[in-house]
Amino acid sequence: MTQECRVALVTGASRGIGRAIAHELGRQGRIVIGTATSESGAEKIEADLKEQGIQGGGRCLNVTDQASIDSLLKEIGESFGAPTILVNNAGITRDNLLMRMKEDEWDSVMDTNLKSVYRVSKACLRGMTKARFGRIVSISSVVATMGNSGQTNYAAAKAGMEGFSRALAREVASRAITVNAVAPGFIATDMTQALPQAQHDMLINQIPLSRLGAPEEIAAAVGFLTSESAGYITGETLHVNGGMNM
Ligand code: NAD
Repeated sequence: MTQECRVALVTGASRGIGRAIAHELGRQGRIVIGTATSESGAEKIEADLKEQGIQGGGRCLNVTDQASIDSLLKEIGESFGAPTILVNNAGITRDNLLMRMKEDEWDSVMDTNLKSVYRVSKACLRGMTKARFGRIVSISSVVATMGNSGQTNYAAAKAGMEGFSRALAREVASRAITVNAVAPGFIATDMTQALPQAQHDMLINQIPLSRLGAPEEIAAAVGFLTSESAGYITGETLHVNGGMNM
């Protein structure tokens, strides 16, 4: 099946997994809008996409701010047409053992990683419903199913994202909109670079494929789930973790 030239919105596309997803969707011929949290980040994405020969651009977005989401979608709609592909990739960690976890560490992870998915998905649904086509993919984590010490907030947000996807998948299936999650294992990005060497080595020992994943390997899974060919897959979580959790 051929890929149509559709508008794809990728949150948190300035680096790491989001940047690789923006490149992959662009390579598939999508018009890609990648977001960053600052104007300079948005300019960087704009230049990056241009260099890759990808149509679209970089925009500033804070996924915790409804007004920021609303004004971005209005502008994208006017400039390119409403997005019919959404990748909820933006995310943060604020790790701490629960005994020490402050309320703002819990709240900020819930807001950025989970409530954002409610906000941005809802804002994109009208355009997808009109188009009678939609692909929503949210980037979860292996931690949603395995748990991880120090990440009660992050694991809860990512597990919530997967439950959200299944519920929404049922709501919008009649409009040919699919809603899925991709759950990466440990991927070599800024997020994992912060790990101490000992923890890094311990991690590798738990991964049958004996290495961290590459952002491009997550992007490939997202590229598949957002393709026209994946129209019969919905409410699914695709695990990409080197066999860490089977
Ligand atoms: P990263 O820190 O390199 O990138 C995160 C992106 O989210 C950045 O572009 C950042 O600007 C954006 N972001 C943060 N707060 C935002 C906000 N309020 N509004 C809009 N954008 C915001 O991380 P990454 O490793 O590339 O992770 C991308 C996604 O993949 C995240 O959701 C993360 O939880 C998930 N993930 C990563 C790994 C990993 O090993 N790196 C594993 C599993 C899941």
